[in-house]
Amino acid sequence: MNSKISSWNIGDVKITRIIEAERAGPMFVVPDAVPEEILKMPWLQPHFSDSEGNTIVSIHALVIETSEKCIIVDTCLGNDKERHIPQWNMLQTKFLEDLNKAGYSVDQIDTVLCTHMHTDHVGWNTILVNDKWEPTFKKADYLFGQKEWEYTEKQLGDHRYAEFINDSIIPIIESGLVKFVEMDEKICEGIWLEPTIGHTPGHVSVCIESKGVSAAITGDFLHHPCQMERLDWESSADWDKELAKKTRREKLGEYADNNILVFGTHFATPSAGYVKRKDDHFIYEVKYPDN
Ligand SMILES: [Zn+2]
Repeated sequence: MNSKISSWNIGDVKITRIIEAERAGPMFVVPDAVPEEILKMPWLQPHFSDSEGNTIVSIHALVIETSEKCIIVDTCLGNDKERHIPQWNMLQTKFLEDLNKAGYSVDQIDTVLCTHMHTDHVGWNTILVNDKWEPTFKKADYLFGQKEWEYTEKQLGDHRYAEFINDSIIPIIESGLVKFVEMDEKICEGIWLEPTIGHTPGHVSVCIESKGVSAAITGDFLHHPCQMERLDWESSADWDKELAKKTRREKLGEYADNNILVFGTHFATPSAGYVKRKDDHFIYEVKYPDN
């Protein structure tokens, strides 16, 4: 059993998580989440924080398999990529091998979906072949948000954006595999997007429904379950911090009230669970994988 690979069944839909990287340590993206504060939320242990109050976070992709489609949601960091963040620079992980072990060859993936265009969500869009960036999933449609791309394209002058735009997005656009989509696009029966803006202007989450069972993939409208209790904590990566807070509160309420199984895009193992109301905030109860 490979602990990087886990699956859940949502009616007839199967969701499989493949981890690229998981670690405990400071979470720079939520500056308030320091050990002293994290320890005040013992419900985060043992999955989302250790006994010293270090947060645990994950970078993973989720494959949604339906009778119609095989969709990979968010393609992590990728290999061989020059990045300004040292721990993300020139990675050499076995992500594609693990994807294979999970039962999916790159050619079986027919849809690539990025909840938003940040470096840790677009990386495996491309691989380096003979010094050229080529699409990893050559038989797939790459669904990029129209609004998200319009915003992202304007950031090309910023080297922190340019590094991933140039090696992970533009080669896909040039390959002709991109389909630009709306923020509420229906992908196939039971799978659709919904806008969850604030982290970025075109940020979307993914909704899944099959046989009366519902699930959602958050994307980065929240980064860690601690933001369910601390609704006032900001993410330094949020484009519009007040809008992001509003989105978090609204969506968490909706998830709690409708018993939706929530997959957190950066939530550590097991990465899935149910949002519950508690006093004036929310907490998270994990749902272990079905296999
Ligand atoms: Zn992210």
